[in-house]
Amino acid sequence: MIRYVRVLITVCAFTFFAAVALAAPLANHVFIVSFDGGNAAVMQQSAMPTLKKMMKEGAGTWKAQTTFPSVTLVSHASMLTGVGPAKHNVIWNGWEPERGPLAVTTAFTEAKKTGMTTAMYVSKRKLEHLSLPGSVDSFEVPSSKSNDVAAAVSKHIVEKKPSLCFIHFTDTDSTGHKFGWGSPEQVRAFGDEDNALDAVRDAISAARLAKDSVVILTADHGGHEKTHGTDSPEDMTIPWIAWGKGVKRGFSIAAPVTTYDTAATALWLLDVPIPAEWDGKPVTSAFKRKAVAAAN
Ligand SMILES: [Zn+2]
Repeated sequence: MIRYVRVLITVCAFTFFAAVALAAPLANHVFIVSFDGGNAAVMQQSAMPTLKKMMKEGAGTWKAQTTFPSVTLVSHASMLTGVGPAKHNVIWNGWEPERGPLAVTTAFTEAKKTGMTTAMYVSKRKLEHLSLPGSVDSFEVPSSKSNDVAAAVSKHIVEKKPSLCFIHFTDTDSTGHKFGWGSPEQVRAFGDEDNALDAVRDAISAARLAKDSVVILTADHGGHEKTHGTDSPEDMTIPWIAWGKGVKRGFSIAAPVTTYDTAATALWLLDVPIPAEWDGKPVTSAFKRKAVAAAN
């Protein structure tokens, strides 16, 4: 009888823990890092040792596509709302406070509904249009320099351990407009942003979140000559790299990836329901089958 009870307890405990494991989100922390003006071809030619190491250790593609028009606010709106411009209706590209926040839900709003903590650390004030009231616990524009943004967000990561955190660097867009896409100045700026990424990685480790995080590295748009905004491949083609918990190692993503898939992937990883009207789909091919099965 005692033996029967012991077996029963073991079976119940196993079932309970298996159920908990299946219900757990794939990751409890998602960090989205956007390199403003990140033309995929120029990034490949730039010295970005941290980003390239993360691609080798993770899954990625240099052929992801942004939405049209390929400009900062419109593209970031798609990246963080999971829908194209026709749905998010962010058709302007400047800080215009009288317009207020955008009119559709964002990944931050959806994460907040389940009690998660959120943060946006950006280099351009106009991205505040993407922060709906109550959706972002900490919105900061530390400066236009990636090392300042990295320092500020690193402090926040260590202190607050956010569930969903967006980080935006723009040294490369500024140098692109001034000196040209692919210019030596811009190539150096990609190196500066890579140093900033390294600092963020250190903060994630210092906060002891590395084993429970996924980091997505991407861009809002590329560029050509001293501009962007067209539907040319130089302007539209961006990197999309996933690194961290459950991510396949050294995997080249063959499936098409569009920038609005970023928001969908973030929610899917955090086990937050993806709104039915979203255009974006999670990039599940980047993740190990076992992890995908557990998250679904
Ligand atoms: Zn931009």
